[in-house]
Amino acid sequence: MITNTLGSSRSAALAAPIGPDEVDPHPSGRIDDVTTPGSTATSATQTPATQAPATQAPSARRKRMLTGDRPTGKLHLGHFVGSIENRVRLQHEYETFLIIADLHMLTTRNTRKDIDEVSRNARDMVLDQLSAGIDPEHATFYLQSAIPEVCELNTLFQNLVTVPRLERVPSLKDMARAAGKDEMPYGLLGYPVLQAADILCVKGDIVPVGKDNHAHVEVTREIARRFNFLYGEVFPIPELVESQITTLIGTDGQSKMSKSLGNAIMLSDDAATVRRKVIGMYTDPNRVRADIPGTVEGNPVFAYHDAFNDDPAEVADLKERYRAGRVGDVEVKDRLTSAVNRYLEPMRERRTGFERRSGLVDEIIVDGTERTRREVQVVLAEVKRAMGITGSYNQLRRKAEQARKRRDA
Ligand code: ATP
Ligand code: MG
Repeated sequence: MITNTLGSSRSAALAAPIGPDEVDPHPSGRIDDVTTPGSTATSATQTPATQAPATQAPSARRKRMLTGDRPTGKLHLGHFVGSIENRVRLQHEYETFLIIADLHMLTTRNTRKDIDEVSRNARDMVLDQLSAGIDPEHATFYLQSAIPEVCELNTLFQNLVTVPRLERVPSLKDMARAAGKDEMPYGLLGYPVLQAADILCVKGDIVPVGKDNHAHVEVTREIARRFNFLYGEVFPIPELVESQITTLIGTDGQSKMSKSLGNAIMLSDDAATVRRKVIGMYTDPNRVRADIPGTVEGNPVFAYHDAFNDDPAEVADLKERYRAGRVGDVEVKDRLTSAVNRYLEPMRERRTGFERRSGLVDEIIVDGTERTRREVQVVLAEVKRAMGITGSYNQLRRKAEQARKRRDA
């Protein structure tokens, strides 16, 4: 059973060692910190910027959480344990922004049909999260593509990271493979940069995401450091919030639970659907009869018992009897069906309440998008001021106005 506490998961996240792919190549924030063969890192061309005035001192504002999902379908138990559970737990402590990342969806699914499904999927996703316990009075949901300023920030960030750095992000290759791409699309390579724009456009302080997204958050941290080094302290350095279960295996036992692989139990599944999916789950393949001792470790049925069964004594008893060949798969799965249904029941009740209020979800998304856009516009203006971009055009405009006045005089 998952019993996260902020203290444990955040300190675990901070203490977690970073893998070779996640090593920050620019510890000082300087892109030229990387010493590549044939090039010498030099600071001659790099001058630290003076402190830019922030719109609000970091200590004065409430800390923010940013996370979300791509609108490719309904949410499942993997999304729940990987991120949503932490969203629910932290939503009152942090000002919460929940993105519906439809521009990120385009990196692997960009047909007209995919795009036509976004509004329905967005509604489903938000309803799933409300059912899971997100309080719409506290959290702000928004649709990424309705905030064009994010794309502007993405463009500015593209110069703060190198192609080899992005090529080392392992999840991107997995996503390209899963989407049947022979070659890496440019947009998919830039997935973590756009994600940095999402996180930093609201100055996100914490980012609760599953394992496939951990390396992306590391790229965000590097971009924020690099930006602050070059142009002044504008951004916080966001922290990853790890979940207890960083990757939930699918019902097929082969790979992570994923809606596209057909191995997912949806948060919106009814009791009969949960039963059918659990009965069909992959277990120890060597166990052709109930009296053959079975393996618990790596067995997805027991991984789900550990994650979702609220009766630890029952789980311990089942494991012991399974190892000894004294319990059938049917009983183990029956008890898992009951446990998962107990887990989902409060969500079903909340869902019914929200579903009764027609148009509510649409209003939540639209109001949240407008609110977020206002926030992002403030941050983008600060970014452009810090970079001096605003100044370039202002100079040209002043000169143009003077020239016009002289001509008209
Ligand atoms: P799917 O893999 O089902 O197609 P997705 O990859 O489109 O979903 P994202 O929008 O990329 O989902 O991810 C949303 C969040 O859910 C991320 O934080 C991701 O790490 C997390 N997540 C997705 N699947 C799992 C899983 N099986 N276990 C743990 N976390 C997961
Ligand atoms: Mg994913």
